[in-house]
Amino acid sequence: MRRAIALAVQNVKSERGGPFAALITRDDEIIAAGTNVVTSAGDPTAHAEITAIRRACDKLGTFDLSGYTLYTSCEPCPMCFGAVYWARLDRVYYAATHAEAAQVGFDDSHIYEEIDRTPEERSIPMRRVLEDESWAPFETWTEYEDRIEY
Ligand SMILES: [Zn+2]
Repeated sequence: MRRAIALAVQNVKSERGGPFAALITRDDEIIAAGTNVVTSAGDPTAHAEITAIRRACDKLGTFDLSGYTLYTSCEPCPMCFGAVYWARLDRVYYAATHAEAAQVGFDDSHIYEEIDRTPEERSIPMRRVLEDESWAPFETWTEYEDRIEY
């Protein structure tokens, strides 16, 4: 965790992005590291955890990080929280809390609140359209014999 915190500090000074870093490990070995590169990469999804997960998966040639651990300098935001589950990581260790991140301008509490609202109640409008045609991708998926399940 000290390595993740040091990387987060270094990330600020390098002007690559926000004060966040993450590591993917297995058996005390660092498999991949990632820092927040939102501003330098022009990518709002380039949070430290996402960057670390992408690098680990690229290095390992897999989309499944079962057996691996995420160390992150700050508690994951809702996007990274979801990514942890999609990646099937075994566990997460974090240092700062999201409440502490909010104190320095990284407040994600409104996103947690949005999740609990109905699509009509959300601050970003989400409306269902083409309901009758929406099943086509799922039908193709379930009928496609060579699909790669995940
Ligand atoms: Zn995040």
